[in-house]
Amino acid sequence: MATAISEKAGVKAEHEPVIGLEVHVQLLTQSKAFCSCSTRFGDPPNSNTCPVCLGLPGALPVLNREAVSMAMKAAMALGCAINSRSRFARKNYFYPDLPKGYQISQYEEPLAERGWLEIEVNGARRRIGITRVHMEEDAGKSLHEGFADSDTKSYIDLNRSGVPLIEIVSEPDLRSPEEAYDYLTRLRTLMLYLGVSDCNMEEGSLRCDANVSVRPADSPDFGVKTEVKNLNSFKFLQRALAYEIERQIRVLEHGGAIEQETRLWDSREQKTFGMRSKEFAHDYRYFPEPDLAPLEVSEAWKEEVRRSLPELPESRRHRLMAQYALPAYDATQLTSSRELADFFEATAKTSGESKLAANWILSELLYLLGEAGRAISESPVSPSHLAELIRLISGGTLSGKMGKEVLAQMFRSGQPASAVTAERGLEQITDQEKIAAVVREIIAAHPQQAEQYRKGKTATLGWFVGQVMKATRGQANPQAAQETLKKELG
Ligand code: ADP
Ligand code: ZN
Ligand code: MG
Repeated sequence: MATAISEKAGVKAEHEPVIGLEVHVQLLTQSKAFCSCSTRFGDPPNSNTCPVCLGLPGALPVLNREAVSMAMKAAMALGCAINSRSRFARKNYFYPDLPKGYQISQYEEPLAERGWLEIEVNGARRRIGITRVHMEEDAGKSLHEGFADSDTKSYIDLNRSGVPLIEIVSEPDLRSPEEAYDYLTRLRTLMLYLGVSDCNMEEGSLRCDANVSVRPADSPDFGVKTEVKNLNSFKFLQRALAYEIERQIRVLEHGGAIEQETRLWDSREQKTFGMRSKEFAHDYRYFPEPDLAPLEVSEAWKEEVRRSLPELPESRRHRLMAQYALPAYDATQLTSSRELADFFEATAKTSGESKLAANWILSELLYLLGEAGRAISESPVSPSHLAELIRLISGGTLSGKMGKEVLAQMFRSGQPASAVTAERGLEQITDQEKIAAVVREIIAAHPQQAEQYRKGKTATLGWFVGQVMKATRGQANPQAAQETLKKELG
């Protein structure tokens, strides 16, 4: 996973940013939150609709049990307490893609509250509070065509209407754009581990609104916040926050006041701009949803969900460090996704060389995958093939340098290491006699350098090793070459 890029330039030490994120995550259920329509993405517009998700009069919602289980799973992984009783509420507003004129959400009685997520920026680990996790339904999608005022057309696709979401609201605990980036990254990783969402930002499965304010560094009170919407990438989140923090500081330093408002990020202009101020803020006129009974979650149901939780990234990170003697850095990288961690464990177990497995996966394999634009799950080199390569290297049959070549070939052809090595005659020369013959030849051809070495210029030895490697096209075992050279020269 990419590391945060510093966007902090311009943030003056005497102002402290305060950030809280509201993240929407689309749940991976087969059917929608309150009807049995499919949630499949990319189907013909309006093909996955029924009276309930079209908002037709008289249609009644029925809660999807699987959506509740997934929401609980996410909330539990965030350390939240699940409320045994929660309630759905109507959030009223008008928008063309909202056929009922309200969204079913949760308001005063959310599904879960009071959790946390641990972040780490520049080696400092901090717990960020989670205020609440609540369930709601998605709206449809408007599609616009044409640019000139006269001939623009808008279309509505209600396939997404009624798809289940959770909203994860953080406490205002984040203190920099880097921390916000790290928080969102970890939140995404966690949801992917749990399998409750595909977190695909382009398809809108993960959406983030950022609330931000600044305050004098010594102030106990928070400043007035703005909310930035339309952040459809991690990069945009970080850039928009950096921009907004600078803007707010500039306003305050010029004696101005921050207006509480909703702003949008314009990625082309690389700035935020005001969308609606507090005066025009929505009054959603929330009230309890009369068509749905309060949501009661039994202890047995909670227990069932708790038992279904997989090993989470944090505990897996610790386990990898303990079980495979990995440094923290390797364990952190390897647990950035469940698939990568699985790949590592399979390779480490088969090869019996955990540190080498970590090194080869994190450097060479990820590099090759990156170049090919493939995910780890699409790797043409399987864990058992990589393990075989690693054993050839640790056993001295292949040098590290040859190993890289072999891996690249394995990646292209899908062949196992042994086949590539045999085909290319790449086996490392460990035969003492063969190496000694080459060494003697080289010494004979370079009497001057040999003399220098004997007179005490020991650095010449490295040059000689280089000559042996060259003569054997990299196939000599460098250590054996060095020892033989010492013997023959001295
Ligand atoms: P609102 O009433 O505008 O919905 P909330 O108190 O519900 O505000 O908080 C919404 C989000 O804004 C939360 O993620 C919270 O952490 C964050 N937040 C609240 N106050 C501030 C502040 N002063 N500065 C930055 N973020 C804030
Ligand atoms: Zn439906
Ligand atoms: Mg609020």
